[in-house]
Amino acid sequence: MKIRDILAKGTPTLSFEVFPPKTEDKFESVEKAAAQIAKLKPAFMSVTYGAGGGTSQYTVDIAAHIQERYQVTPLAHLTCVSSSREKVHQVLAQLKERKIENVLALRGDIPADGKVEKDYRYAAQLIREIKEEDLCIGAACYPEGHVESENKSEDILHLKEKVDAGCDFITTQMFFDNNILYNFLYRIREKGITVPVIAGIMPVTNKAQIKRICQMSGTYLPSRFKAVVDRFGDDPKAMKQAGIAYATEQIIDLLANGVNAVHVYSMNKPDVAERIWDSLSDIL
Ligand code: FAD
Repeated sequence: MKIRDILAKGTPTLSFEVFPPKTEDKFESVEKAAAQIAKLKPAFMSVTYGAGGGTSQYTVDIAAHIQERYQVTPLAHLTCVSSSREKVHQVLAQLKERKIENVLALRGDIPADGKVEKDYRYAAQLIREIKEEDLCIGAACYPEGHVESENKSEDILHLKEKVDAGCDFITTQMFFDNNILYNFLYRIREKGITVPVIAGIMPVTNKAQIKRICQMSGTYLPSRFKAVVDRFGDDPKAMKQAGIAYATEQIIDLLANGVNAVHVYSMNKPDVAERIWDSLSDIL
């Protein structure tokens, strides 16, 4: 099923994310985690794409597995900046062959050595190129602005280019203060971006994760969140419980305020997905 049709129903949706293994020997454990999450029957599940494209086959295989065995709609991520046009179209052909109808079209991060392929510079180019295919296309957005952007206004103008290029929905980078999302929604609607926005929520379940998040994306950590980490960060079980509770509260607040589509960065952790799902069973 196409995600745009799922979102068009206007009912609350919860979706989860898995990432593919880096090596063949880990494939089975990732597949097992994906299967456990799929058994919850979320609205859809996304499968990320290794930055260089080297693990693209795993993305396709896991996405197909979710759909064929569990009848859960998959969303396959696809990055372009480190790939040739030929490679991108090879992956698209594989997705078509496995009847995967949803693609999250991304640029991908610029590698540390700055070496990229020459065919694509921005995600908008990829979206423009594939919009004639029979696909539902999503794109990424950044309520706090993308790290490379001069400012949020410029980032929103580039987001508009992606939407005008033909994307059907946008999924946000994680945020820990819902007011950041509400403000972002106001600003993008004002600029004429009217496609559905899926709010991305990251349950932070260990201290190391927070350091990585801040280094990679510069995400703002509200004092309420910092207090949780200060108090529970050194107790892994307590941190996990508190992190799941924090994410669940964020989701409830979003749903209560009319943000119907929420995507959980569940990071191959079925127990985290299950605990969030269970806490929302009557709400959804
Ligand atoms: P773009 O939309 O191309 O934007 C990149 C930067 O360029 C932004 O600063 C933008 O403002 C600027 N820009 C855009 N167009 C122009 C223009 N015409 N002129 C000047 N500047 C411009 N990475 C992975 O490797 N694999 C994944 O599976 C993956 N999944 C993700 C899922 C989500 C929901 C999100 C939010 C991110 C994901 N990422 C993933 C990370 C993503 O690849 C990086 O954030 C990357 O740096 C930007 O990708 P993008 O598609 O947003 O790029």
